[in-house]
Order: sequence, then structure tokens, then C-alpha cells
Amino acid sequence: MSQSPILRRCVACKKVLDRKYLLRVTRDFQNGVVLYGGMGRSAYVCRTESCLEEAWKRKRLQKALRCNVCSSVFNMLQKQLNTCIDSDTEA
Ligand SMILES: [Zn+2]
Repeated sequence: MSQSPILRRCVACKKVLDRKYLLRVTRDFQNGVVLYGGMGRSAYVCRTESCLEEAWKRKRLQKALRCNVCSSVFNMLQKQLNTCIDSDTEA
């Protein structure tokens, strides 16, 4: 069985990658901006410091989601980034 990857575009560098390599931010219609889960408009960003920084500085997520994204969301993304790097080197 072949499973074709779900491709999404990073809001910062515009690279198209398999969704599993990206961090997802969703503007949930009830809960506002959430990471993972949620229903509504989504934006994706690479699991890299540079893309996160770019997304934050240039308000790429805000533009993609068409709403305000507070810094706590970016803090959470940054934490995700760190945990992902840890789990990758674990093997
Ligand atoms: Zn990127």
C-alpha cells in the first residue's frame, strides 16, 4: 500500500513539505489559535528556528490565519521544536 504524503506549504520559506515535517497551527472557530487539532483554517511552518522566527517577525501566521496570533502560541511552537529535535536524536 502506498501512502502519498500530504503536502503543505511553510508560511515562512514557502517550501512544500510532507505535513508530518511541519508544525501546524489552526485557527479553531471556538478556541482561537491552537496547535494540533482544532477545526478551521490552518497554517504550517517548518520545524526550524529560522522559519519560526521568520513567521513571527513577518507575521506570516497572522496573515495565513487572518487573525491575531499571540506570543504564547510561538512559545508553544518553540517548545514543540525542541521536543521534536530531542526525539529525533533519540534513536
Ligand atoms: Zn520553512
